[in-house]
Amino acid sequence: MSGWIGVDLDGTLAYYDQWRGSGHIGPPVAPMVRRVARWLQEGREVRIFTARAFRDGTPERDKDVDVAMAAIKAWCILHLGVELEVTCVKDFSMIELWDDRAIQVIYNTGRPYREDIS
Ligand SMILES: [Mg+2]
Repeated sequence: MSGWIGVDLDGTLAYYDQWRGSGHIGPPVAPMVRRVARWLQEGREVRIFTARAFRDGTPERDKDVDVAMAAIKAWCILHLGVELEVTCVKDFSMIELWDDRAIQVIYNTGRPYREDIS
């Protein structure tokens, strides 16, 4: 299987309760970290998909992103043993996205899988 799996950071891979600064990444969410570790063992490509990587062209934002990237890479080494690629950009090779905010829709229907929302 080719393509990459996108995994959100805050609230998905790392515990999140409130904003604590660009350099703070929460503790690992164990089941998600184990799943990612398994994917890596299987040779699948996983990228962290996070708005923390979004640059808007301002020096202030650049500084925040640089701090966040360094923190995320250190977090990856600590909890996964490897640095994952970090992106906020979806491309045609993204085959799955794991995210606490995503609502999955049924292909070409506009209908959500969840029956409790419309
Ligand atoms: Mg999230």
